[in-house]
Amino acid sequence: MTVFNSVRGRSMIDLKEDMKQAEVWLDNTEGEMSEDQLIYLAATGFEDCPDFCGSKKYCKDEACSCIRATFPTPDHYHLYLLMRSQAIEWLKQGIIANAVSKEAFSNEKCQEKFK
Ligand SMILES: [Zn+2]
Repeated sequence: MTVFNSVRGRSMIDLKEDMKQAEVWLDNTEGEMSEDQLIYLAATGFEDCPDFCGSKKYCKDEACSCIRATFPTPDHYHLYLLMRSQAIEWLKQGIIANAVSKEAFSNEKCQEKFK
């Protein structure tokens, strides 16, 4: 009974603490994150919640402990999201450019065949 209460009490404190930290984080505008790190994450993609995320369930949007652990402020996270969508665009364009050049190559082959 005592053990149960202490475990339960502790998880309540952790939950409150997590929510409090999320509030603080959402208001935070000061924090350091290297450009290299942001670029790396934008290029590779940041997995915000790899598995089950208890924090995401009760913290406000985009303020779970996974995101807070990686990004010092919401501004950094939003900058990452912008950079990530740009990186995805570039990747798509890369794939399209690759497909086009392959098509051009096979057309060339076809033309050779019909000579
Ligand atoms: Zn999470």
